[in-house]
Amino acid sequence: MPLVPMRILLDHAAEHGYGLAAFNVNNMEQIQAIMEAAKETNSPVIVQASRGARSYSQDNYLRHLMLAAAELYPNLPIAMHQDHGNSPKTCQSAIDNGFTSVMMDGSLAEDGKSPADFDYNVRVTSDVVKLAHARGVSVEGELGCLGSLEHGEGEQEDGHGAVGKLTHDQLLTDPNEAEQFVKATGVDALAVAIGTSHGAYKFTRKPDGEVLAMKRIEEIHRKLPNCHLVMHGSSSVPQELQDIINKYGGKMPQTWGVPVEEIQRGIKSGVRKINVDTDNRMAMTAAIRQVLWSTPEKFDLRDYMKPARDAMKKICAERMTQFGQAGNADKIKAVSLEAMAARYAKA
Ligand SMILES: [Zn+2]
Repeated sequence: MPLVPMRILLDHAAEHGYGLAAFNVNNMEQIQAIMEAAKETNSPVIVQASRGARSYSQDNYLRHLMLAAAELYPNLPIAMHQDHGNSPKTCQSAIDNGFTSVMMDGSLAEDGKSPADFDYNVRVTSDVVKLAHARGVSVEGELGCLGSLEHGEGEQEDGHGAVGKLTHDQLLTDPNEAEQFVKATGVDALAVAIGTSHGAYKFTRKPDGEVLAMKRIEEIHRKLPNCHLVMHGSSSVPQELQDIINKYGGKMPQTWGVPVEEIQRGIKSGVRKINVDTDNRMAMTAAIRQVLWSTPEKFDLRDYMKPARDAMKKICAERMTQFGQAGNADKIKAVSLEAMAARYAKA
């Protein structure tokens, strides 16, 4: 099956009350891990690449790896998504490279660091919706800045993330503004700020409602019952992986992520896309550390990349099952970008 617009997957998830993990990729082994997990669990797939990933792997490599995935798994619907596009230009170049979905993150200015105002956000996001929908490509917007409610700061990921102290208001998406924003822009999905942040160091303790505002999602969902919501920075940062990494020479300070049961609560309130990257990074790093530490005589890349790939596959399959997307791939009918563009033109 050719790559499908992400909107198709989100609509199916909403109709059947489940969520979809969106996994970040930078190389072949990560794509292979996701696809094997999806095959094993019969899951629709969202693969995403940040700007950092696109420059690390180069668009041509990435595009052909994704086309290979579509060829090798013809029965699985796959959406390829640009994570945190910083400008309409970035989104346009993603679309030109075969991405079937883009995120225009207008919560920050084009530098990917300075919080932007509401009007700027509406303007750039609307521009991207126009150019993307004309090609059948889905659009995710973001309102509110990702960052910690504990210390008021964002976390840079691949050079993208708010710099400096953010106010409580900036860190929590306002439900009324969300309603206005979705109406004004026509986005397919909305990323919300509720206290999650990128990277491993999300919370200094197991999060409660003070630092992880799941209630805010429920309020936004009440205002926008038909809007697909997106949770960023939603790795769970498993204790077991922290322990393996540290046992084999790593130095990760104790940290907490977003518990899976909180994500499941979000899925009951309109969360359809859940971004998971750190858990996969940790799984691969833990496996590689274990091999290199235990058998220091080894030097064949495959000796540690194979266990690393298996470890990532295990995390992906777990999340696919926990979020409810497992068992749904064969129920989704492919829709071409052209058909999707015609659908948008009629709406
Ligand atoms: Zn993000």
